[in-house]
Amino acid sequence: LMQLYQPLNFLGFVYASLRQGVVDLEQMFRLLGQPQDVSDRPEASLLPPRLEDAPAASLEFRDVRFGYREDREILHGISFRVPPGGRTAIVGPTGAGKSTISRLLFRFYDAWDGSVLIDGADVGDYAQASLRAAIGVVPQDTVLFNDTIRYNIAYGRIGASQDEIEHAARLAQVHDFVLRLPDGYDTRVGERGLKLSGGEKQRVAIARTILKNPRILVLDEATSSLDTHTEQEIQAALRQVSAHRTTLVIAHRLSTVVDADEILVLDQGDIVERGTHRGLLATGGLYASMWAAQAEESRPEGNRA
Ligand code: ADP
Repeated sequence: LMQLYQPLNFLGFVYASLRQGVVDLEQMFRLLGQPQDVSDRPEASLLPPRLEDAPAASLEFRDVRFGYREDREILHGISFRVPPGGRTAIVGPTGAGKSTISRLLFRFYDAWDGSVLIDGADVGDYAQASLRAAIGVVPQDTVLFNDTIRYNIAYGRIGASQDEIEHAARLAQVHDFVLRLPDGYDTRVGERGLKLSGGEKQRVAIARTILKNPRILVLDEATSSLDTHTEQEIQAALRQVSAHRTTLVIAHRLSTVVDADEILVLDQGDIVERGTHRGLLATGGLYASMWAAQAEESRPEGNRA
């Protein structure tokens, strides 16, 4: 019976995770053990080791078509390239296919057609373990373990020293907060311990990712609204982790995409506009109208047109 229960249990987990959009995939795969619909090709290579001074990786989608079900294509030929150390943001309405792009990057599914390339090689040619080691995600909703803060950060790199953990926590702007807790880094969090706020949890996740030191970073921007101060702290922490690192931002709001090297506007599975923030505003298309709508929303009550 246990043999039956386990897969059911993990399917439930996958389902719950997919509903959230991009998940903490590393965490998910680790919990799963290994199963998924794609498997390593016999000749799968390893992404270069993530040395401190390793060059950032390039990332490319080349005419990628994909759907979850045969009768419904979701991405209709997506092409873009993020150069090493570059920052690309994907914006667009809900259901446009933003999260689907990040799932293909992780090779959670295989593209129907076209290719997803890291450093010029198809993601299918890399061993999955190395693919996952090379990509770090800061998810929208971080799940913390019922364990200490130390464990929750160190999880980014098992075996990290206390110095390394503190360094990551400092960059993520969570160190001072931890020091104020009753047991510092040994404070237990989660269901059986201290409850952290959304912003605090996110900074723990950022510290975890800094420690992991991935060559590619996927930021799945939080949809939940944080207060302005917390938001600014998170943004500062994210800038630390994404500096000089190839970064793909899945943006649900537009405030964080302004400084992207390229913004892709996705609508119903097609890139309908692309360019810099200024360029897209000047074009006066979908991006410009999304920007105007958002500016309207964030204006204080009473000031609205
Ligand atoms: P976004 O991230 O832009 O909101 P998604 O990539 O999550 O969009 O979804 C794109 C489309 O794919 C939507 O129509 C969504 O309903 C569909 N979709 C997403 N995940 C699945 C899935 N696991 N199975 C079937 N359809 C899915």
